[in-house]
Amino acid sequence: MPMPTDFSNRLSPALEHIAAHFGTPFHIYDEKGIRETGDSLKTAFSGLPFFKEYFAVKALPNPAILSIMKSLGFGFDCSSIPELMISRKTGATQNDIMFTSNNTHPLEFIEAASHGGSILNLDDISLIEKVPVMPELICFRYNPGERRTGNSIIGNPLEAKYGVSHDQIIDAYRESQKRGARRFGLHTMLASNELNYTYMVETTRMLLQTVEMISEKIGQPFEFINIGGGLGIPYKPEDTYLDIKAMAEEITALMNLFRQNHGYCPKFFMESGRYMTGPHGILVTRAINSKNTYRSYIGVDACMSSLMRPGIYGAYHHITVHEKEDAPRTLVADVVGSLCENNDKFAVQRPLPEISDGDLLMIHDTGAHGYAMGFNYNGRLRPKELLLKPDGHVELIRREETPEDYFRTLDFEPDAI
Ligand SMILES: *Cc1c(COP(=O)(O)O)cnc(C)c1O
Repeated sequence: MPMPTDFSNRLSPALEHIAAHFGTPFHIYDEKGIRETGDSLKTAFSGLPFFKEYFAVKALPNPAILSIMKSLGFGFDCSSIPELMISRKTGATQNDIMFTSNNTHPLEFIEAASHGGSILNLDDISLIEKVPVMPELICFRYNPGERRTGNSIIGNPLEAKYGVSHDQIIDAYRESQKRGARRFGLHTMLASNELNYTYMVETTRMLLQTVEMISEKIGQPFEFINIGGGLGIPYKPEDTYLDIKAMAEEITALMNLFRQNHGYCPKFFMESGRYMTGPHGILVTRAINSKNTYRSYIGVDACMSSLMRPGIYGAYHHITVHEKEDAPRTLVADVVGSLCENNDKFAVQRPLPEISDGDLLMIHDTGAHGYAMGFNYNGRLRPKELLLKPDGHVELIRREETPEDYFRTLDFEPDAI
């Protein structure tokens, strides 16, 4: 999808100046757009007695972005020790952090419980006895397997490594109850980049049905349900937007029905990453070479170290060329980085305007799972991150890596046995 028009209108006039000042490549994020998306999410769910988004930190783990989430009233979904640390640095406390790890290391449980703790979301029944102290509030990640609700099939998570199986879920709560848990939540995450909102409605229906079933067995109400992340964004120009308003309305109706039947309504949590920040970031990179062999290639000054999704998943990211936005797309080229890996391509056989060395390419929708996934293969370093502030200023929120960063792990005390 072409980046949001408002972002583009504010960025375009200044882009050449920004690129000249900071140097390319860089990701630039739009604070105004992120705040508007956050506000629209809260508005959509304002009919619920309690709604909270736990931003999936892995999508965009930058303190400046996490501060924006905090100021929106959002919490953080973490699954590693550094993610817990970065969330706590923004001032997040227990109820602001959902720790949704899998294949969890004992040290991670210790960190999750320290500094005031977090909401523990266990991925397996075998982890119950590995939690050093069973907290009062416990949640499990539920994997429904090949199950249906209503008329819809909600995925086929039989092959997914995540979650507690249907046959184990009641025992999981019973066992944690025995060990002292008194308050309960239920979580699942079944979707990824899903544009069909009814999928999230069906996930909610399934969770509420499961809550009913477990509640009856353990004789306890549930404090919250968490539908996970996976809300989609339109990466391709022909993709449609997820209808968040309709999704929230149908979910609110389901929650109201539950309240009528049971006399209470659990809190409603979600943990979106992509939906919150994906469209509000772009990767800006300069064309530095062009090559015509069996195909045409445009070589840019960024590579997979800045954005892996096209290379590893074949994911589509829309590309426009600054000041050639309306030029006819008469060139068909692969847009490539400089890794010695043939999948180091941002686009394959993509229609583009004619491109000259020095042109600025804008690779859209890099605000989630973009910078965060980058790696250092081939000694390629990760780029800087910038934030476009609502008042038009541009702030450096992470510097680019230097060779010193790359060599840092070679600086250690000699050790041998
Ligand atoms: C990755 C992840 C998310 C966020 O996914 P998005 O597709 O970015 O919304 C949320 N919860 C868990 C447990 C995840 O692993």
